[in-house]
Amino acid sequence: MQTIHINASAEYDVLIGEGLLDKSGELTAKVVRPCKCLLVSDDTVDELYGDRAQISFTYSGFDVERFSFPAGEASKNLDTLAELLNAMGEAQLTRSDLVVALGGGVTGDMAGFAAAIYARGMRFVQIPTTLLAAVDSSVGGKTAIDMPFGKNMVGAFHQPALVVTDTDVIRELPPEQLSNGSAEAIKCGVLNDPALFALLESGNWLDRVDEVIARCVAYKRDVVAEDEFDTGARAFLNLGHTFGHAIELLSGFTMLHGQAVGVGTLMAAATADCPEDMLRRLAACLRANGLPTRCPYGAKELAQAALSDKKRSGGSITLVLPEAVGKCRLEKLPVSALPGCFEKALNALEALAL
Ligand code: MG
Repeated sequence: MQTIHINASAEYDVLIGEGLLDKSGELTAKVVRPCKCLLVSDDTVDELYGDRAQISFTYSGFDVERFSFPAGEASKNLDTLAELLNAMGEAQLTRSDLVVALGGGVTGDMAGFAAAIYARGMRFVQIPTTLLAAVDSSVGGKTAIDMPFGKNMVGAFHQPALVVTDTDVIRELPPEQLSNGSAEAIKCGVLNDPALFALLESGNWLDRVDEVIARCVAYKRDVVAEDEFDTGARAFLNLGHTFGHAIELLSGFTMLHGQAVGVGTLMAAATADCPEDMLRRLAACLRANGLPTRCPYGAKELAQAALSDKKRSGGSITLVLPEAVGKCRLEKLPVSALPGCFEKALNALEALAL
């Protein structure tokens, strides 16, 4: 088992290793004295792993109740949040009790947000069951729900008390889910970690998934330590996301987050005038991980969708632009420059037949 210590407004460990789901209660009991806890997951994960988590927490002295909701991003809304808060009330949770988020990004974001606001804030533990959640959303304390006017528009910074990642659970994921998570890992490689990028380039890293997760979490640890509340360096983690969110939005969220962020990263590199060999290398890496390299939308509609992106502050938008594998820069642009950027990126990809 690997332990990565996160030093933010709250300090906590991220544990990564085989067989940790069945030890999750025991591991949690080392940092949270056994209490009442609500185990939150979507119906798919609840059926797959809910019993095992409940048994572990019960065995370690926690008084466990369960809440589940329909799987999918569409559930990450005010209605489900209200149901969850009511379930917490019915379970008579107090501020000294615990919420356990067992699942992917939707579960972690929503259960984390519920924990942030219930009784003015209580502790929660993340047990990510998707690669995307393991490498990205479970660490760093961003919690939120989606609103009609935008994704993740209502939320809070609320750090978990512990993150427990069972690599056996991650290895059992269907290929599409592994592919989805690999995009955020590729992003970390492009941002900061050429060795990680090289590992992902092989497309054959499942037996080293613990290393992939640990490298991503270690990078996120450094960024969060520097800029927990996203006013500076944390902007780097948005690589591929301005483009990606626009693509996601236009697809009506039929395109998975990772698929959109993968193409988005390639488009960011094209916008940045990256050398042709780097663009080709990045495209090959995406393909090796089952991710698309083409954007099916035009520059105009993309720009319009991007304008609703919450990363826009005032009349400007900050893009993360790759210079080389392992090195990126931030560039603040007027919003009016966006259509030109999208145009340039699409043309570059077209010209290289990527
Ligand atoms: Mg993301």
